[in-house]
Order: sequence, then structure tokens, then C-alpha cells
Amino acid sequence: MMLIHVNKYDTPECETLAETAKKSIRTPDSLGLDRCIQCGACTASCPAARFTDYSPRQLVKRVLENDRSVLEDESIWSCFYCYSCNLRCPRNNSPVTIVQVLRQMAINEGIGLERLAYFVEIGEYLAENGASKIPGPGVRNMERDLGESWIEFKRDLESIRAELGLKPRDIRDTGSEVRAILEGTGFFEREKWIRAGGRGNVSALSHSASPETVNRETASHETPQCGV
Ligand code: SF4
Ligand code: SF4
Repeated sequence: MMLIHVNKYDTPECETLAETAKKSIRTPDSLGLDRCIQCGACTASCPAARFTDYSPRQLVKRVLENDRSVLEDESIWSCFYCYSCNLRCPRNNSPVTIVQVLRQMAINEGIGLERLAYFVEIGEYLAENGASKIPGPGVRNMERDLGESWIEFKRDLESIRAELGLKPRDIRDTGSEVRAILEGTGFFEREKWIRAGGRGNVSALSHSASPETVNRETASHETPQCGV
């Protein structure tokens, strides 16, 4: 599978998984990945680990061992970003941030694309309307879990708002601005690629957003340099 639309700030091409994680725009310079003592506090506080085979402690270990098979491990998709591991780690490590980089690396290689359908739907709606929404599968889950009362509540939203003295919902004309952001960050190219199941033209190893448009915290991240 060829790489497509790889964001060099998000997943810089480095020798090792650990270097890529440390140099990613997502992670701070203070990330304690190398300081992990395998204490397991992250896994002990992880709700996903409680109900699945996922273990943030093991994930960090595999990253430090440069075990690239972790990119194909289904368990990296179990995290749901509650950030408990981030708060509990005594070494200022952040498994939740590392797992985000790993997921993006997996996606770059065409792994786990089917998991993006939900989020692509959000992006498409955002581009069209300038506002977010709960995608179809999410609505169906809420209907299943909350029953008819929820859908009735949703249908009655405007009258409930009126009863509470709130104005009708007003989605301002932010569509063009949102579309420009999505265009600039390469969303539409990736959307097509994902919808095509990972097939299509290969683009350069960066997206069209210039470094100036990327909100970077420190100068050392300006151009990710692996191994530095
Ligand atoms: S809590 Fe921090 S130091 Fe402990 S295993 Fe997890 S990442 Fe490593
Ligand atoms: S953010 Fe993810 S890895 Fe961290 S505790 Fe929550 S579910 Fe677990």
C-alpha cells in the first residue's frame, strides 16, 4: 500500500516509532516516552483496558521496542481519548497521544480505513453546512440505547428551546470558512482516498497547509528532525 497524503508534521518519517511519536506535532517536547518505567498506572486507570485486551503500558513498550506490528494491532483502536493515562503517568508520558500518532501511521499505510467512515461523515457534513453533527451510526446507537424518547426529544428540540426561552438554532454562514480550512488541511483529498478504500493518486509527503498555518508550540517543531 502506497503512502498518501502523509502529513510530515503529524507523522514525520523517522527511523523508529518512538522518534516519530516524539517528533509529531501532537506531542510536547516534554513527553516522557523514554522515561516510561512500565509501572502500569496507565493500564490500571484505562477504562478500555478493563473491557478489552488493550493495554497502554504494553503499547508504550512495543513503541520503545520499535515493534511495527503494533500498527496492525486492532487494540490501538480501543482507546477513546479519556486521557486518564495522561493524568496518571508518573513520568509525564502520554499513551493517549502516542496512540493517536500510531493510528495516523496505520491510516497512512491503509490500515483501519473502515474505522474512519464515521468521522468522514462528520467532515462531509461540516464542509456542507459549516456545523458538526452526530453521524448516522451514532444516531442509531443512541436510538438503540435511549429508545424512542430520545428521538422524540430530538424532533421536539425547537419547541423545547422555545419553552426555555431560547432562540431558534442559528447555523451561521460559516460554510465557506470551514470548507477553506478543510481544503487547506487536505481533508477532501483524504476523503476521496478513504472512500476509494485506499486507492488513488499518491500526493507529496506533506499537505497543502504551510508551516505558518500550523499552530506550533515550539521552534524545535518547525521542521521535525528525527533523532535530534
Ligand atoms: S503510567 Fe507512564 S510510566 Fe507507567 S507504564 Fe504507563 S506510560 Fe509507562
Ligand atoms: S486515553 Fe485511551 S489509553 Fe488513556 S486511559 Fe483513556 S482509553 Fe485508556
